[in-house]
This record gives sequence, structure tokens and C-alpha cells, in this order.
Amino acid sequence: MTRMILLNPGPVTLSERVRSALSKPDLCHREPEFAQLQTSIRRQLLAVYGLDERLWAPALLTGSGTLAVEAMLTSCVPRGERLLVVVNGVYGERIAEIAGRHGIDLVKAVGEWQAGPDLDAVAALLDANADIRLVAVVHHETTTGRLNDLDGLAATCKARGVELLIDAVSSFGAEAIEFERWPVLACAAGANKCLHGVPGAAFVIVKRNDLPAGAARSLYLDLQAYLTAQDAGGTPFTQSVHVQYALDAALGEFVDEGGWRARRECYRKRFSRVRAVLAQHGVQDLIPAADSSCVLNAFHLPHGMAYATLHAALKARGFVIYAGQGRLAEGIFRLSLMGDIQEPDMTRLECALAEALAPVA
Ligand SMILES: *Cc1c(COP(=O)(O)O)cnc(C)c1O
Repeated sequence: MTRMILLNPGPVTLSERVRSALSKPDLCHREPEFAQLQTSIRRQLLAVYGLDERLWAPALLTGSGTLAVEAMLTSCVPRGERLLVVVNGVYGERIAEIAGRHGIDLVKAVGEWQAGPDLDAVAALLDANADIRLVAVVHHETTTGRLNDLDGLAATCKARGVELLIDAVSSFGAEAIEFERWPVLACAAGANKCLHGVPGAAFVIVKRNDLPAGAARSLYLDLQAYLTAQDAGGTPFTQSVHVQYALDAALGEFVDEGGWRARRECYRKRFSRVRAVLAQHGVQDLIPAADSSCVLNAFHLPHGMAYATLHAALKARGFVIYAGQGRLAEGIFRLSLMGDIQEPDMTRLECALAEALAPVA
């Protein structure tokens, strides 16, 4: 059987090292061996961006990336405060939807999906609403592949004493996240994108002293409860133990491969090869390549080709691509090059793309 390579934005193709961690012995989450595993993962998560554990703390959760985003939103916004949500894609909309469902009073700065966040609009909203102390934003908006300019947004917020809640689910581990320079209160991410782990583990890295006390609107997602328990080697609830073994293995592999900068370089190299084939077949970018993340790029479908046709042709050759979402569901396709993709896979991918995109005679 052909090896199936996932080119969707998570879950990713697993390495054998990560996959074999899933078959480690059974373990009770109340035993010291689990405490050790959890402590090891929490240390390694901080080490990804060299964070000081006296200032920053990761809450390790069982669930997908959206769970971490929901835990962040429901734990960080005190009652009576308003949240500004920056929206330029499906995931920004999801932040607003989550906050709304929990009764968080919010204001949206909605921009064009094909454009970056509107910093002038954000500044004007912050100036007009002095009760807004927090801005929530997606770092890499996976809808379009845009890496949102958080440098500019951070400066706008910092100048006004406003802090950031960042959905970094699809950038953590492969793009620069300036925890010290940006006014970050919390950053949510997951195991199964740039960290190459198994879906089912997620985390929020919180600036310890800035987490508001008693703000949590959910019992299960109370970040303060996770931090208190996990700092003491415990966990409030049962964790997906084997998935955490796999995350530990993935973080070990991540370090062995050189950390986030090496991962960014690796993804960029893979994309330059894929882009060369796409360009030969006249495939055009959805947004300028310079604005795209290293993690995922979005492309217009060739004229007259349906997404289902391209998807099927590539799947038959061992590659799973990803459709557009929301109002971009028609007309585009997306490619991500995360995970355990080896040189033979890349060569095979170049051929598969060329064949799938070749005009039928
Ligand atoms: C993948 C992703 C999520 C989480 O999606 P899940 O389906 O819960 O894993 C959240 N935000 C962004 C930007 C993502 O790319």
C-alpha cells in the first residue's frame, strides 16, 4: 500500500518515534510516573521559545486546539471587561463565536479575509473603548495561510496597556512568537500541528502573574486550576496519557531536529519545491507568498478544475490535500507540509502534483 502523506493542516503524518510512543505501557494519571511525564512536557513546551518558568506556565489539556483556545478565552477575561477580537478568517470568527457563547462582551475588528488585520481600526476601537484591556487574535490564520502581523498589533496594544490572547495553534513551533516583546497574556496551541504530535493534547502558555483570579467561566477549562494542580505534579482531570507520551516523544524529536527555526527552514524548503511545480502549471497564490506562513499556503484552483477532482487525483497517489473553508470553500485548495515527510515522499509529491495538474489530452 502507498504511504499516505497528510498535507492538511493537522493532524500530520507521524514519525515512527512518535507513533511507537503510543504503545508505551498503561499508566495511571495519579502515579508519579505520570507527574514526571507531565513535568517533562511542560518544561519542553516552555523551552520551545526559551521561556522562563518563573514568568510563564503551560496548562496541559486533553483535547484539540479549539479546546485550548476556549480555555484561554474563558479563563482570561474577567466579568465586566470587554474583549476585542481581530477577525480575518474562519479562526478569528471562531474566537468571537466562543467568546459570545460564554457571554463575554466583545467588539470585533473585522477585516477582509485576504488582507491582514486592520491596525487603524484596532487602534480606533481601543481609543474609543477604554474598558477593553484584552485583544484576541489568530497568529497564523489557517483559512488563507496568512501569518498575521503581530508586531504591528503588539505595538498598538502595548502603547495602550492592552494584552494579547493569541491563537497560535497553527504556528507554535515553526514561526516566531515574541513572548517577551509582545504584550502576551496567554497563547493557545496544540500537539498535532507544527510540533508533529498526535491529536488530543493541547496547551495554553500563560503569563503567570497576569492571569486574573476567579475569572474562569468553565469548570473543566479553568486554567488557574490546571496550573495549580500541574505545578504540584497533579492534574485536575484524567489526561490522554498515551497522547501525552507521544507529545513528549515529538518534543524530543523537535529538539533533535534543531527547534522552531530549523522547522521553519524545513517547511520553507519543502514549499519552494512544491511551488516550483505549481508555478509550472500556472497555479496562482491566494495571497502574496511573502504574507504566507511557512506552515500552509493557499492556492487558486486551476481554471476549470474542481477541488474534488484534484483531491481525488492526489489521494490516489498517496497525498491528502485540504479544501477552502467558509466563503473560500469554492475556488481554492490548501497545502501544508508539516510532519514526517521524507525525501522520497517529496520526490513522489512533485510527480503527483505534475500528473494531477497536467491538462487532459
Ligand atoms: C487547527 C486550528 C485550530 C484548532 O482546530 P482543531 O480542529 O480544534 O484542532 C485553531 N486555530 C487555528 C488557527 C488552527 O489552524
